[in-house]
Parts: sequence; C-alpha cells; structure tokens
Amino acid sequence: MNTLNNFSKITARTITDAASQFGTPLYLYDEKLILERCLACTSMPYAYGHVVRYAMKANSNRTILKLITDAGLHLDASSLNEVLRAKLAGIASDKIMLTTQETLDGNERSKLEELLLDGLKYNACSLHQLQLVGDFAAKNNIDIGIRIHPGVGSGESATRNTGDDYSCFGIHLSDLKEVNSYAASKGMKFKHIHVHIGSGADTTMWRKNIDLELKIIEDNFPDADTVSFGGGLKEARMPEEHAADVALLGSYAKMRVEEFFDRTGRKLKVEIEPGTYIVANSGYAITRLIDKKKTARTNFIITDGGMEINSRPLLYGSKHPVYIVSSDGNRVVSSEFNPSGFNFEAVIAGKCCESGDCQTLDMDGHAVARAMSEPLIGDIVVIGGVGAYCSSMAPYNYNSHVQAAEVLYTQAGDLELIRKRQTLEQMLENEI
Ligand SMILES: *Cc1c(COP(=O)(O)O)cnc(C)c1O
Repeated sequence: MNTLNNFSKITARTITDAASQFGTPLYLYDEKLILERCLACTSMPYAYGHVVRYAMKANSNRTILKLITDAGLHLDASSLNEVLRAKLAGIASDKIMLTTQETLDGNERSKLEELLLDGLKYNACSLHQLQLVGDFAAKNNIDIGIRIHPGVGSGESATRNTGDDYSCFGIHLSDLKEVNSYAASKGMKFKHIHVHIGSGADTTMWRKNIDLELKIIEDNFPDADTVSFGGGLKEARMPEEHAADVALLGSYAKMRVEEFFDRTGRKLKVEIEPGTYIVANSGYAITRLIDKKKTARTNFIITDGGMEINSRPLLYGSKHPVYIVSSDGNRVVSSEFNPSGFNFEAVIAGKCCESGDCQTLDMDGHAVARAMSEPLIGDIVVIGGVGAYCSSMAPYNYNSHVQAAEVLYTQAGDLELIRKRQTLEQMLENEI
C-alpha cells in the first residue's frame, strides 16, 4: 500500500481523493490515530484515580471535541469562549476545567457563575482572578482550583516554556501566603492544585515537576485531593524526534503519589492535560504545488497553503514531515520516511507575501531545503504533524486568504467534511 508513513492508513489515493472532493488547501485528520492517543492516555497507570483533560486549544473543532470526549477524556479550556464552544458541542460543564489568562468580570463573570453552578471547574491563575470569584464560590460552596507558577518550566522553545520566571502563568510560589490567607478569610479550601510547565517539555523536567508539585502540595495545601501535572507531553512529528512515553510517566507519577500517601495518609487523584500529544500527528495539511522557482542557490516549490495553514515553522522553527503525492495518486515521496537516493532539494514556500512563509525554516528563520525527487506542478504537497496548533492558531486571513476546510478520515475509511472552507463574504461580513 502507498501509505504516507508507518503510523497511519492514509494512502496517496486518500490524499488525492480528499483534494479533488474538497479542494486545496485543507486539513485532513486521522480519526484512528486520535483514538489511539486517547487510549494511551486513559490507560496510563495511576494510584487513586485519574482524569485526562484534552487541552482543546490545540484543536477545537466540534467533531474532534466530540470524538475525544466520547473516548472518555475531559477538557481543559483556556478561555470562556472555549468553554462555551465545548458546551455548544454538547459537552457537559462538569467535564470542563477553565484555566485562563482572562479576568472575567461584568457579563462574563455572570456567565462564569452560571457555569460554575452547572459544574464547570475553575482554576484561579492570579490573586485577582481568585478575588473576582471568591465571594460567589464561598457562598455556594464551590471548590476553586489553583494554578501554581513553580518558577521552573520547560518547552520546545523559550516561547513555549510556561513555568520559568520569564512567563506569567499561574500564582507564583512567593504569593502563596497571600493567596492562602485570602482563602482562609473566605473559608475557601483548595482541593485542585495545578501546574503546567510548558509545551513539548523535556521528559526529565516533567518528572521533576511531579516531585516539585507534590512537595508544594505537602508544604502548602492540606486540603488538596487532586494534583494536575498539566500538559506538554512531547510528540515526535519527525522520525528523529522522541515522543513522551506516557505509560512510563504514568508509572513514575503513580509511584510518587503512593509515596505521598505513605508519608501523609492522603490519596491524591491525578490529572494530565495533553493537547499536542492527542492530535498533532493525526493532522495533514493537503496543499497543491502551484509553482516552481529558483535562485542562484535555492530551489523553491510553491504551494497553495503555507504559513496561513501552519505557522509553526515561522513561529518556532518547528520541523514537520513533508510528503509529495503525485497528482494521479500513485506515488508518495517522503525524504523523512523513506530517505534514499534523492537528487533534488527544495524549500517549500507558501503563497503569502512574506519571506518567512516557508514550511522548512530553522530556529533562526532561515529557509532550509529538503531532499525529495523533483515534483511537478499539480502534485500534492502534504505537511504532516499539523493536527495541533495549526487550524486553531494560524493567521488564516493574512493576504485575505480564507480559512481552510477540515476533513476527518474516519476509521471506516470515509472522508467526512467537518468544517467548510470560509468564504470571502464570511471574511468580510463584520466590516462596516
Ligand atoms: C496549552 C496547555 C496544555 C496543553 O499543552 P500541550 O503542549 O499541547 O500538551 C495543557 N494545559 C494548559 C493549562 C495549557 O495551557
């Protein structure tokens, strides 16, 4: 079979079928892989109960949210609108936890209070956030969680480290006294303690965070019954990268939580919040090769979907696998997955007026050529690993391009449209 790689059933023919049925550019998601990743997380070892929350900012499409919550995951939302979006997808409030930078006041505060009464869980990330809900929570006996800023973090780039002293997520350890005395004055108890150290965190740092967070709980939170280790489980988009071993991290957390019980007599429930790990490798951006150019030193192939589909190379220097599929659906070329005998190298550029609109950039923003066999105009260029933080984060209206369509490749092998392509009218409808 002409599959793209060794971890999905998607073939060259699936790709050309999707392109001719729905047009390019589009996102294609592999349902089977998403479900495998959900299972890897829900079946991780634990001692006294666990909850896996999918970080929905990674990909918030309604069909994806339903798929993942039907597989037994709860949700981590990062804004009030994400909560409302999940509710509109039919997901119950008590399956959602809100951890946000927003400070909800006025109408938003009323909405939050309504949701809290309906079972939404809320993580206070600053003293001010806590004070905004304190009286209401105390009066209604609602437990508020707290996100701690541990002062150390880890991420695939500096911009994705959310735990070090250069980032502003959560209540810093040095403010705990003030927070605890505020809580005491209201008769509030903190049961849910949360830390998220960053995206694509190093596994050693993840383990260190488990130890650090349990220590923080032991020293400061006598009423805690749940510890959330946040997200950031690393995914391997490129063959040379290493994904987090969720079972191994689970065993480590289990051991530490059992030791915590031996010391304190307290049984902690564990939560994790993977986003990337659940959806990243399920996604493929299907684009059409529309032009070829060269300079004195570089070949370029130009596609009809670039930074407005996947801005991760431009933002972070992230590497994504590239597959070239012949327009007749008979041939796949990927120098990442079958590296042999290529006599052509090219930079993959998009159609935006931006020299950084390349899918192959290094950390300094320089375009890097990839090996391939020379493709033809009309071939399909597929960018892999775009299931997380692409559709949900890309600057899709730049150059007045429209937001791409999204399609699910179901376990049964069907192509299901799950988001229509935006129209020019929709892009402009709020302009006056
Ligand atoms: C973004 C985020 C996550 C998920 O991070 P990934 O790197 O996608 O796993 C989890 N928890 C919180 C609070 C987040 O902000």
